Amino acid sequence: MESREISAPFIGIVRHRLATDGKGVTTLVAFHGCPLRCKYCLNSQCLDPKMVWRTITTSELLDELLLDNLYFLATGGGITFGGGEPLLRSEFINAFCRIKPAEWKINFETSLNVDRSHLERVLPHANEFFIDIKDTNPAIYKEYTTRDNAQVLDNLRWLLSHEGMADKVIVRLPHIPNHNTQEDVNHSRAMLEDMGVKRFDEFEYIMKQDK
Ligand code: SF4
Repeated sequence: MESREISAPFIGIVRHRLATDGKGVTTLVAFHGCPLRCKYCLNSQCLDPKMVWRTITTSELLDELLLDNLYFLATGGGITFGGGEPLLRSEFINAFCRIKPAEWKINFETSLNVDRSHLERVLPHANEFFIDIKDTNPAIYKEYTTRDNAQVLDNLRWLLSHEGMADKVIVRLPHIPNHNTQEDVNHSRAMLEDMGVKRFDEFEYIMKQDK
């Protein structure tokens, strides 16, 4: 099938990841750009227009990722799109998925804080979603990210309304120093379980000394 060449800005590509963000061996492809401004952002280069690592087209990206084709095929692995916020680049991802080998798995590390149209565009290609929910409490979320979380919860409900999707969704529930408590995390978890989330990754943010 003919596919349009699209380019996008990136902050990095990390090869040979195992059991961190998807099944088998994965390559993390990290886009520049994010709608949030998290206080303890670990990838702050994705927020600075001057910190674009490279701008790459879909076919250039495919050429680079084909280096690990045998690993992906042997382990059932593939590509994890992160960032930044990968869903902002849904057109690029859609075009890339039309030219990649069919066997490669496609995973997303996302905040889900994007317009629904982006999610609709990537859904047919998605194997797993790793969703960084921050905290479900709107006040905590806004204080930490500067944005509202209504779109996040709405998108999550929409995702879970698709048959079998609960098995493809892992929600990351961080303990965020100075922003939420164990009680807040428990509250988020209970609310998300009610929504149909079955898989969680609860963890502590490791803080730099100067934060
Ligand atoms: S969602 Fe991730 S990349 Fe975006 S500001 Fe927050 S921590 Fe940084």
